[in-house]
Amino acid sequence: MSHTKTLCFGLAVVVVYGALSISGLAQQAPAPPPITMKMLKPDVWAGMGGAGGNSTIIIGKTGVIVVDAKQTEAGAKDLLAQIAKITPKPVTTAIITHSDGDHVNGLVAFPQGIKIITHENNKKEQEAALAAGGRGAPPRDRLPNQVTTKTKESMTIDGVKLELYHFAPAHTSGDLVVYLPAQKIVSTGDVVTMNRADDNPNIHFEKNGSTEGWMANLKGMIALNADTYVTGHGDLATRADLQRKLAATTQRRNKIAAMVKEGKTLEQIKVALPDAPAPGAPTRGAAPAGGAPAAGGGGGGRGGPAPLTYVETAYQEITKGSKK
Ligand SMILES: [Zn+2]
Repeated sequence: MSHTKTLCFGLAVVVVYGALSISGLAQQAPAPPPITMKMLKPDVWAGMGGAGGNSTIIIGKTGVIVVDAKQTEAGAKDLLAQIAKITPKPVTTAIITHSDGDHVNGLVAFPQGIKIITHENNKKEQEAALAAGGRGAPPRDRLPNQVTTKTKESMTIDGVKLELYHFAPAHTSGDLVVYLPAQKIVSTGDVVTMNRADDNPNIHFEKNGSTEGWMANLKGMIALNADTYVTGHGDLATRADLQRKLAATTQRRNKIAAMVKEGKTLEQIKVALPDAPAPGAPTRGAAPAGGAPAAGGGGGGRGGPAPLTYVETAYQEITKGSKK
């Protein structure tokens, strides 16, 4: 009998181990670091790192608002478990800053039927990704169900005052900046990241992001009465960090524009003003890990040409003429 027990135990170990190693495989090694929770105000936390971008957690009267949802089901479950440690209230609202999978796809683990708020262009980009299928596609049953179309929208959700800003396309065409005026906290999405060089912001040319719009976003965020910025990746930022990034990037863009005026080619400009590598940034080619919904069935990740660099994107915009 004890032999049977041992056998059963052994079998259970094999089954559990097997499940772990399968999910381990699906996540791709190395596993992401666990999420670090930082209290910013008694009712506002940052869920830093883990699988995907940073999240902001706002505790309302009866429920919880989460800004950005991590990349994978496992990553989002980790986030939800961390939230459960700080409040018994359920997550009722998600606000998504842009359409990249590392901020969207974890929604698959969020409760069904919650409010999901984005800019309308984010929703369009998610629908396009869904139609294209592949492993990076967002969860089909967690598409945005409330969109904003304005440059500024004020709202109160569950007793929490929020201002949503779409200053201009920057990282993508559907960037949304979330501002909590009472707490003086801004969620920047990937318009601001702390794991890249100050003069090398991440602009998705293929999602109609804009280097010019990026500068407008930074100016807009700097003008808000805020003292903490929850960035898309890496550490929290201060207004001084944003000012430094705006100055460095503006200077670099001006140099690109000056070289265009001198008749330099893109290749010459790239040599003169090389893009700094983005240490710690998720590899663009890395497929969203397997916990993510395999919505369209596994097409081989995101194929296609490599995304444009900052210099290439700025060059495209500047040479397109005086597009203002
Ligand atoms: Zn991101």
